[in-house]
Amino acid sequence: MAIDTDKIVHAVMHGSRIREEKGIIPLFGVYLSMISVQYYNGISFGFEKATGNDGFAENLLVEAGQECGYATFQGVRSSWEWEEVVKPMIEDIEDQIHCFVSIAIAFGWGDLTVQELVPGKKLVIRATDLYEAKGYLDVYGKADSGKCYMVRGVTGALMDLVYGDDYPEGCFQYTAVETSCVAKGDPYCEFIAQRTTS
Ligand SMILES: [Zn+2]
Repeated sequence: MAIDTDKIVHAVMHGSRIREEKGIIPLFGVYLSMISVQYYNGISFGFEKATGNDGFAENLLVEAGQECGYATFQGVRSSWEWEEVVKPMIEDIEDQIHCFVSIAIAFGWGDLTVQELVPGKKLVIRATDLYEAKGYLDVYGKADSGKCYMVRGVTGALMDLVYGDDYPEGCFQYTAVETSCVAKGDPYCEFIAQRTTS
């Protein structure tokens, strides 16, 4: 069975209408919340500028995205919603990546597409409408390096979850780079995750 992205997106959107009194959204085995992209970008890019733009903040923010993606999608694939809605579509291990990406789209992380997947070796994800790239451009103008730290970390996390050691030992076994970014003036953002070499 092919992966039905619309069905997954609809399941997430439908479930996201349920809110606890503090605004927390319990869904697909994890706790979600709505957050303003200006607020998020202001904190992460402000942190980067305040620490001297030397790659220190970038590394931390990518790591945070990867660790968050790793734990979040482990929760997602352990949930009853995954069991009921998603699992019947999965025929091979690679399908998990496509399902994770569908859920990430529904979470509002961006218009992600899997451009290439070489099992165990390489994942290429592309997007044209990421909030970090757009937010950076709006506030600071054209960047000289990729700015989509969260999705870059998440790209590595998806490979960690599917091809790394069993949870929780597999995090950071893959590393992603952002090879082109809308914030730099490229037509799309592209992320490539491969086995961590060092
Ligand atoms: Zn980007």
